[in-house]
Formats: sequence, C-alpha cells, structure tokens
Amino acid sequence: MDVFAIKKNGTPSLLNIDNFEELTKKRFPYYQYGTDKKLKCYAVCPECGNPIHIINLYGAEMIQNQTGIIATYAKHTRGKVSGFEFWNLYDKEDCSLYNPTPLGNTEIKHSDEYSEELKELIENNKRNVFKNIREVVSINLSTQIINRLYDSFMNSNSYTYKAVTKYNIPYAMLYYQQSISLYGQYIVKGIFGDLLSDQINEKSRFFKVENTGEIVKNVTGYRTINMMFKQFKATGNEKTITMEIYETDGEDRVYTILKEKISLKSYIYR
Ligand SMILES: [Zn+2]
Repeated sequence: MDVFAIKKNGTPSLLNIDNFEELTKKRFPYYQYGTDKKLKCYAVCPECGNPIHIINLYGAEMIQNQTGIIATYAKHTRGKVSGFEFWNLYDKEDCSLYNPTPLGNTEIKHSDEYSEELKELIENNKRNVFKNIREVVSINLSTQIINRLYDSFMNSNSYTYKAVTKYNIPYAMLYYQQSISLYGQYIVKGIFGDLLSDQINEKSRFFKVENTGEIVKNVTGYRTINMMFKQFKATGNEKTITMEIYETDGEDRVYTILKEKISLKSYIYR
C-alpha cells in the first residue's frame, strides 16, 4: 500500500518521505530501534487500524520488478508492534489494503565493494565522525546519544543507501534516525550555536538555554524538546538538509521552534 495514517481511524496520507517525516516528526513509535539496534519505521493502516511496516522509506534500495519504479511502500506487520495498542488479526486479513503476496523486488544500492569501503572508512574514522556531527549541529551531543546514532546507522546498513557518500557521512548519520532528545544537552557557542540558543530562548514555551549552553526546562510537568533532520537532498546542485527543533506538551501536542536549512559541505576521511 502507498497510504498511511498516524492513528486508528486517522486521516490517510500519501506515503512518501516528506509526508512521513512531517507527520511523525520522527517520533516513537513511528521510528523505533529494534533489539538488533536497526531503525524501523511504522504507521497505522488507514483501513483496518493495524500497524504497518514502512519499507524502503530510506535508501530506495529496492526496485519494483513490474513497474521499474523505486517504491516506498507499507505492509501490514506480522504481529503486534511496540507502541501501537491496536492489533486484530481478523481485521487485517479482511482489510482491503492487505496483500499477503510479496511484491517482486530487486535490490538496488551501492555495490558491495563500495558499501564495504564506506563501512571501513566510517569504522576507522569513528572519532572524527563524532566530532563532525557535533560541529554540524553545534550541540555537544552526549556520548550515549552519539553511540546510539552510530550503532543504528551501522546495524541498519544505512551506508549501503545510494544517497550516502564518502563525503556526507555526518549528515547521513544524523538523518537516518529517530528524532533526538535535546533535554540536558549543551549548545556550543558560535554563529550557528548562538542562532539555536536565540531561537529556543525566543520561541520555546517550555525550555530555555542557560549561559552554560545547557538546554533546561523552565516549567513543571512532562515536556520534551527534540531535533530531527528531514529533506536530505544529497544529489544535484542543491545539497541541503533541514534541521527542525520542536517541543511537545503534556497532551503530546507538537510545537515547532525552528526549521533551519543547512548546506552540506564535504567531510573528507582517509
Ligand atoms: Zn489494513
């Protein structure tokens, strides 16, 4: 299927990267890491309300044999999925969008050689990549967060995706991820860091940036502040990625604090 919803009986949307990132904000349970630390994307079937697994959202590593189109699609999951309450096998088998026969797909991605080269390059430059990721975001992301990004990127084989090159590794590692919690993280001073601090201090309802750069909450109750990357345009003339910082309130409402388009510069690793 090529449609999805966020909630049972919710409005159906056409399945594509922009819609999916915009509507889910890369939040749990739509983005989650499996026990194998791989990133998995889910939504809800607009017909039967069961969870659906999103295939090929990133990487476009499959091509549909009959149509020749590189397709992102969704299929009903085999069983329950963490974070999605509703699960009903009978509704699934009765669903008009349920197609038990697999699509004929052929994989297209980097050649095994190039993928292997990229993998080694990343492994050998782990410390530099971490340093550069922190530079890109002007946030001194904790070791725990940065290791999570690395583990999920490597375990998901995201380096095999066509959009990932030897020169854009830090951006790719930020992009193929769930949203990242910024609570308690430190913004680094500088042109971009000051812009982030100013925007948060000006627009945030629940958070502020201390003089030390730490992002802290200034109200009581459960609130979150998160960063996500979307619209990764790694090819063509305009190489950009968009950073979005948003916060959520106690009722899970989402408020955007800033959207900043970042031009991709090359990072060279040896
Ligand atoms: Zn369904």
